[in-house]
Amino acid sequence: MPTYRAPVKDMQFVLHDVLNVSGSDIPGYEELESDFTNAVLEEAGKLTSEVLAPLNVVGDTEGCRLENGVVYTPTGFKDAFEQVKEGGWTGLDMPEEYGGQNMPYVLGTAVGEMFSSANQAFTMYQGLTHGAASAVLAHGTDDQKAKWLPKMVSCEWTGTMNLTEPHCGTDLGLMRTKAEPQGDGSYKISGQKIFISAGDHDMSDNVVHLVLAKIPGGPEGIKGVSLFIVPKFLVDDDGNVGARNGVSVGNIEEKMGIHGNSTCVLNYDEAEGYLLGEEHKGMRAMFTMMNEARIGVGMQGLSQAEVAYQNAVDYAKDRLQGRDVTGTKNPDGPADPLIVHPDIRRSLMDQKSFAEGARAFILWGATLIDAAHRKDDKDADGLISLMTPVIKGFLTDEGYDMTVLAQQVYGGHGYIEEHGMSQFTRDARIAMIYEGANGVQALDLVGRKLGQDGGKHVMAFFEMVKDFCKENSDDEGLKDFIEPLKAASKDLQAAGMYFMQNGMKNPNNALAGSYDFMHLFGHVCLGLMWAKMAKASNAALAAGTDDAAFYETKLTTGRYYMARRLPATAMHLARIQSGADTVMGLDAEAF
Ligand SMILES: Cc1cc2nc3c(=O)[nH]c(=O)nc-3n(C[C@H](O)[C@H](O)[C@H](O)COP(=O)(O)OP(=O)(O)OC[C@H]3O[C@@H](n4cnc5c(N)ncnc54)[C@H](O)[C@@H]3O)c2cc1C
Repeated sequence: MPTYRAPVKDMQFVLHDVLNVSGSDIPGYEELESDFTNAVLEEAGKLTSEVLAPLNVVGDTEGCRLENGVVYTPTGFKDAFEQVKEGGWTGLDMPEEYGGQNMPYVLGTAVGEMFSSANQAFTMYQGLTHGAASAVLAHGTDDQKAKWLPKMVSCEWTGTMNLTEPHCGTDLGLMRTKAEPQGDGSYKISGQKIFISAGDHDMSDNVVHLVLAKIPGGPEGIKGVSLFIVPKFLVDDDGNVGARNGVSVGNIEEKMGIHGNSTCVLNYDEAEGYLLGEEHKGMRAMFTMMNEARIGVGMQGLSQAEVAYQNAVDYAKDRLQGRDVTGTKNPDGPADPLIVHPDIRRSLMDQKSFAEGARAFILWGATLIDAAHRKDDKDADGLISLMTPVIKGFLTDEGYDMTVLAQQVYGGHGYIEEHGMSQFTRDARIAMIYEGANGVQALDLVGRKLGQDGGKHVMAFFEMVKDFCKENSDDEGLKDFIEPLKAASKDLQAAGMYFMQNGMKNPNNALAGSYDFMHLFGHVCLGLMWAKMAKASNAALAAGTDDAAFYETKLTTGRYYMARRLPATAMHLARIQSGADTVMGLDAEAF
């Protein structure tokens, strides 16, 4: 069975050596002293590796089941959920007034990675609740916040997000679910939603659905969509759960992975609902949830890569096959362990350099979110808005690829179920699809985010990379980092320039290159993270440390990324610059 060890030391390195969180002027960060974050991460590490990780395979093999309209989660999920609630983990970064602990989002993000690595399907129940609670927090009235938030923050009631319908996924303007005003401030919601994660289960007293629907007579298309709170059980003014509302589970989907999470068809039949935010501004309100969810989904890419990598390393050290061509390493055994072989090393280095780079990228992104929320920093807000599709799309594509590499280390033993490696691949696959399929993330990046606020945020990113390279150009210890980063950043700028010069003439020139652009951007971000990690490692070594091996390992891993992974930017640029002609060259009939 696979195991999971929380990467506490690596998280501490990113938080303190690289991001210097406790030295930041973001309100609340002064609490993030190294001892404190270490204690929180160690505790989360224990819970995730000892309680949640062993349930991962149980969830995969048992799945959820629907019996007489009731959804049951796999054996052990309910008890584990109680432990998570009792530990206060569900409200770590939620406001104290609603029962949370008001910790910065960055700490919640580090803890979230552990939860997701240990058991992605399980963690989605609380993850979706967190997203729904954030939407209520941002758009709810005071009464709505008082009524719904305390129970959602504690996960006594869980949350869902309901966008998708059978005929509309990406194109939400086609939505048919209706919301009829009742004249008393409430609405009657009718329609069918499909693929609703955590849509129903037996682990909480109520489920608070956030549902997109159209109020009849409103604007056509996406502009006519509003957001509603629709509970599974109605709640009276004193917060007591009462009668069943008009929402029922039609089915739970059979699917490729995340079997422990119930993916439900939900039928709404004149269910009572309450407007969240303004009429016809539902997408704006839902975006609060979706942006948070997109970062959470990007993290799923990292989290599955990390846990798959850990197991692949163990296996590569244990499995004896073939001999090291440069000299036997295990003379007393019948063969050397897999880890001696350069091709296995390549695979493990790809995985390691991705996971550590992605961790730094996500935690840095989380500091931008904290700066935006806690300091009202508009530049940080713009930058994270630009980065969100990159975090979601790049990290989930790469994360999935890394789980495949980890599976490959096991050979045939990775393909059979006995070792549990295929679950990581199957679970990671969904992250490329939901929360806006990755192709659509790339369109969002190129079509919307690049030009947002006159291109100010992408220019700020280029400046940031340029300044870093300039400041460190004379540093001999960073010579393997600065030149590759400069070259990659130039590729990114050239791609942006290509879109500016050719996208107007023919929008397909930009759209056909958008996926490559998302990956090009992702590599530059990870290149920047590796350069920053190298600088922090050099500083630690120069200052004297009792763990030189950790920092030396960082430098070697970073050099690998710069030499072997970052050059992908040139390929992406070449593809982008080839334009749309070859992509669109065939008539549809020719396929
Ligand atoms: C396990 C699971 C859990 C889910 N959980 C939830 C949930 O909790 N709540 C919820 O509301 N939904 C959920 N979804 C739905 C998910 O978000 C959608 O499946 C996804 O948004 C894509 O919609 P679709 O499946 O209808 O694909 P379509 O919209 O039909 O798209 C099909 C393909 O075409 C591409 N495409 C579409 N439009 C364009 C375009 N203009 N240009 C280029 N390419 C395009 C897409 O990238 C995609 O690859 C879940 C889905 C699954 C499978």
